[in-house]
Order: sequence, then C-alpha cells, then structure tokens
Amino acid sequence: MPHERDGPLPSANPAARRAKGRLVNLLDGRRAEDVDRAARQLADGGLVAMPTETVYGLAARADDDRAVAAIYAAKGRPADHPLIVHVLDRSGAEHFADALGGDAGRLIDAFWPGPVTVIVRRAAGQADAAAARLGTIALRCPAHPVARALLTRCRELGVEGLAAPSANRFGGVSPTTAGHVRAEFGESMLVLDGGACELGIESSIVDCSRDAPVLLRPGVLTRDRLEDALGRALAEPGDDATAAPGTLDSHYAPAATLRLMAGEQLRQAIAMLPPSMSGLAVYSRTAPRRPWVRPMPDDARAVAHELYAVLREFDARGVKLIWVEQPPDTAEWEGVNDRLQRAAAP
Ligand code: AMP
Ligand code: MG
Repeated sequence: MPHERDGPLPSANPAARRAKGRLVNLLDGRRAEDVDRAARQLADGGLVAMPTETVYGLAARADDDRAVAAIYAAKGRPADHPLIVHVLDRSGAEHFADALGGDAGRLIDAFWPGPVTVIVRRAAGQADAAAARLGTIALRCPAHPVARALLTRCRELGVEGLAAPSANRFGGVSPTTAGHVRAEFGESMLVLDGGACELGIESSIVDCSRDAPVLLRPGVLTRDRLEDALGRALAEPGDDATAAPGTLDSHYAPAATLRLMAGEQLRQAIAMLPPSMSGLAVYSRTAPRRPWVRPMPDDARAVAHELYAVLREFDARGVKLIWVEQPPDTAEWEGVNDRLQRAAAP
C-alpha cells in the first residue's frame, strides 16, 4: 500500500482517488489483514464478494435481514428466491438447521467442505430473509481456503453464516474471477480475490427436507457419487419442487443468443461459413479450426472450470450468436449440460 506522507492527499485529486479506490476495494485473499477487513465489513452488515471453489459469491451476514436485503437489491434478484448460507463447518450449519441427520448428515459427512448444498428444515427465526421466509434453508460449507479463512474470521467476530448467491446480476453468467465480479458491480464493490475458481459451476443442490432426497441442481459431483453417499437413489423432482432461480428454465445466460447443437449439425453449419466472420463464436470439441472457433476440452471438469469465462469472453467480444456443441449425455457432463441448456433457453 503506498504511503501518502508527501504530496497531496488522494482525496484532493479525483483521478488519484479513483485509482486508490480500485486498489482499496480489491483485497488479496492470501493476506490475513485483507481477510480481516472483509470480515469486519461483513460483521458491520456490509457486502463482500468472496471466492469459493465453485463460483464467486456476493456475501452478507445471514443473520441480518437488512444486510441480506442489500444482496437482493445489488443483484436485482426477486426477494422470494432463497439464498445459500455458507458456513465454516457442521457446527456452523447446526445454527441454522432444525436438525442435520438422515440424508443431509450423510452428504455432509461425505462431501463437506465441498461443492454440495443441502436443503434442510430451518431453525425457527434464523436467517429469515436469506431463506426467503421458507420453512427450509440451503446450507453449504465451501472448501476454498480463502472462503474458509473468511468464515473463520467471521466466526471470531460473532458471525456464523454468510448468505451468498453468485456475485452477478440476476439471470446472468456467474463470475469465476475477481475481474468478473468487478465487471458486474464496478469498483465500489469490495472483492476478496482468491484467484480463478477451481470447479467453475455452482454447487449441486440436494433437497433433504422431504421423504426422499431430490437433486434440484446438478453440479460437478456426479449423481452416482451423491447416491453412494446417500445409500439410496435420488428421487425425481415432483410438481411441488420449490420454484427458485437455479431451477428456472432460463438462467446463467450470456448477452448473446446461445444455441446448443449436435456435433454433426454444427460441423455442417460451419462448412457453409467463410473463414473470417464476425458476430459469431463457436465452442466445440469437434469443429475444424477457425479463428472464431474456440476448442472445447474433452474433459467435463475442464469445461466446467472455463465455461463461464469463455461465455464472458464471447460477450466481451460483442458477438451476437454463440454456437456450442452439445457435450455427451453422460453422468459426468450433467452439471455442464444443465448450465448450457439454461443458457440456451429463450
Ligand atoms: P444461487 O444462490 O443463485 O446459487 O441459488 C441458490 C439456489 O438454492 C436457488 O436456486 C434454489 O434452487 C436453492 N435454494 C436455496 N434455498 C432454498 C430453500 N430453502 N428451498 C429450496 N431451494 C432452495
Ligand atoms: Mg446465481
């Protein structure tokens, strides 16, 4: 941090003040004093964008309905769409849950800290706004070391849970770098930088509040790994499944129109096009090399990791149309396929 003993105070000079603002609101998650500053802002009821292993979250203390209201306002998210509350460990979760046995307990034992969110009955009066006043609450324990450092410091300051949806405007593409968050909310938002998110798509959400567990949103962990841990099959979502943003048909969408195409159809369409093109970007495993074709990795985890950055890059380039080759319809691609289908929905 530069010292200001000599020369004018930054506040005397708007450009210097802006430059300082850029620096001051971008915190380094590896530095204990930066984590402390973020934790204090959260404890005071403010917002902080934080890294997790899935995507960046826009966090507020879960026990403060006014702080949580600021998340909904910043995102433009409807207030009846509940948020995931992030906790340091099982004892943090017990604060918000009525009970954590059964299916939820098994998933917690198997996967926490990690990219699995459990929905359980909510402890009366806890995190009302974060849970959109439902009788249930979504809980997750992130594995990212910076998220854990932040939650540890928050606990020391008396904060047990952070409500944190993805740090983007409602319906858009989730951020996987600190730069993405800044592109969404500008330089006034306090961002704790933890590097690029390792997994890159949102957590699996399992509703454990019913008779049978239901996968509400697939993530990177495959269905069979969840079922192994549960010791039984996941049930299909019934008609009574809670309507919520992650389960809307259209979500996670770039500004450009995204079309999902089978490999054969995509290659035929590309064969008709000139080698140099503007307005179109293609993301494909099998298409021939062109300047406007971005190769898609063969591995589902590698695609999940880069997917949102790729979509943001296409948008930044100003393309109007994105063609994506449909990945295989297999278990390890379920999370990526789910996000692509929602991004392609009208
Ligand atoms: P996001 O915070 O955008 O990753 O989305 C959180 C998701 O968690 C929502 O899309 C809901 O599907 C789900 N969710 C959160 N809280 C609840 C709840 N109490 N009951 C059912 N689903 C929930
Ligand atoms: Mg989101």
